[in-house]
Amino acid sequence: MSGVCDPRSRLATIGRLFYERGWTWAAAGNLSARADDGSFWITASDTCKGELTATDFLRVALADGQVLEGGPDRRPPAETAIHRAIYETQETATACLHGHSVEAILASRGRDPVVLPRVEMAKALGVWDDGTPTGLPVFANHPDVASIGRAVATFLCDHPRPLPALIVRDHGVTAWGQSLSDALRHYEAVEFLLALIAGGF
Ligand SMILES: [Zn+2]
Repeated sequence: MSGVCDPRSRLATIGRLFYERGWTWAAAGNLSARADDGSFWITASDTCKGELTATDFLRVALADGQVLEGGPDRRPPAETAIHRAIYETQETATACLHGHSVEAILASRGRDPVVLPRVEMAKALGVWDDGTPTGLPVFANHPDVASIGRAVATFLCDHPRPLPALIVRDHGVTAWGQSLSDALRHYEAVEFLLALIAGGF
């Protein structure tokens, strides 16, 4: 399995970028990508995203999050539940990136949804396409992360053409895409737009 559609090296590169950009402080955040069989690779809990190696990833089952490869000294992050909710409802999503930026927390204070400004960068999320929503959904943070995952799954089932990103309040952004490059472009665009809002735009 490790040699077939193994995204770990590319995820480690993206992890360094996330760390250097201030999107994953203090071992927070998690990065994942689907494997060929529908399972997905995800960063293990408590790993610095700036120093990821192949042993910092686990391959987990989509249906229940069971660890299929990796460990045994590693465990999946609680937020695996959010990644599963996205992969289960967004069939075309192959990668999912989650960070904890200062700007995401500031921009989502008192806003639900967070309405994205229609500046040029919004085009990276398709916001200027006909019918595309402009509101980034905001979910309540909760110690029981599985309950956030259920709320995300319900929202995505009820909204057939969502923006490829969401916010958990006082927590951070999750973005996804049809490839790792796609997910990274979406994540980066959202952080740019949230930084604008946090800056008073
Ligand atoms: Zn998180």
